[in-house]
Amino acid sequence: MLAGGLLGAYCLSEPSAGSDAAALRTRAVRDESAGWVIDGTKSWVTHGGVADFCTVLARTGDEGRRGITAFLVPGDTAGLTAARPERKMGLKGSPTAQLAFDGVRIADARRIGDEGQGFTIALSALDSGRLGIAACAVGLAQAALSETLAYVTGRRQFGRPIADFQGLRFMLADMATLIEAGRALYLAAARLKDAGLPFVRQAASAKLFCTDAAMRITTDAVQLLGGYGYTADFPVERLMREAKMLQIVEGTNQIQRLVIARHLVGPESR
Ligand SMILES: Cc1cc2nc3c(=O)[nH]c(=O)nc-3n(C[C@H](O)[C@H](O)[C@H](O)COP(=O)(O)OP(=O)(O)OC[C@H]3O[C@@H](n4cnc5c(N)ncnc54)[C@H](O)[C@@H]3O)c2cc1C
Repeated sequence: MLAGGLLGAYCLSEPSAGSDAAALRTRAVRDESAGWVIDGTKSWVTHGGVADFCTVLARTGDEGRRGITAFLVPGDTAGLTAARPERKMGLKGSPTAQLAFDGVRIADARRIGDEGQGFTIALSALDSGRLGIAACAVGLAQAALSETLAYVTGRRQFGRPIADFQGLRFMLADMATLIEAGRALYLAAARLKDAGLPFVRQAASAKLFCTDAAMRITTDAVQLLGGYGYTADFPVERLMREAKMLQIVEGTNQIQRLVIARHLVGPESR
């Protein structure tokens, strides 16, 4: 994987279990040779259908998060098939597809961690992934700002560059400020992780702030390019579509707020 020769896929979400991932229904049961047989459907799998292997979260016990176990399933295992890739608003460079597991047999050696430990493993992958998403959002927002700066200094209206107008200058200032704040936030969370310190709340805050900032910045970038911003001749409309995806994946931004609040005031009472 590190050499770029292998692609992995992460199979947590299901048609009826998105934000409430612990409600997943894909089941793994022991077969006669002490291996496992997996049945179920996973949705929204990034690299679905082209991945060399899939990390699959499946139910091996009771309802709830403690009944879930993680497995590593080779992409070419019999019984594993991919649906037609989703037709998405963005992220066109990477296929996203539903995967069907129909009597997929794997050896017990492909179990990751202990039985019942899968949900903890799944969440820890998401905690780290949120830092990556936050970094993507900052890079995307920076690209939108760079495009916008190049445009507003060249485009003239009312006899002068539109960058002269204070209303636009204030928008540019806000964009730059959000980018710098977002970069500082995710780097601070990443430093906690590197130091082996708790970083879950900070990673959720970074993902929330950076992706909401990217959405606002890319939307403003389209506005600042006027009609041209709305065309595919300039890259900002694509950046706006990609920013929307970042607010949804790796836990929606509503779920990030739940995570942050739980760290502040504890779990919700039922
Ligand atoms: C391009 C793309 C790639 C993806 N790649 C993967 C992947 O590789 N692997 C994988 O497992 N999944 C992947 N996903 C799935 C993604 O993680 C889910 O879409 C996401 O977790 C939301 O689940 P859902 O779509 O079922 O929405 P739902 O959970 O149905 O949510 C719908 C809306 O309700 C809100 N909501 C839900 N519960 C609450 C609550 N308790 N409080 C407040 N608001 C709430 C949500 O924030 C959202 O706005 C991908 C999704 C996309 C779009």
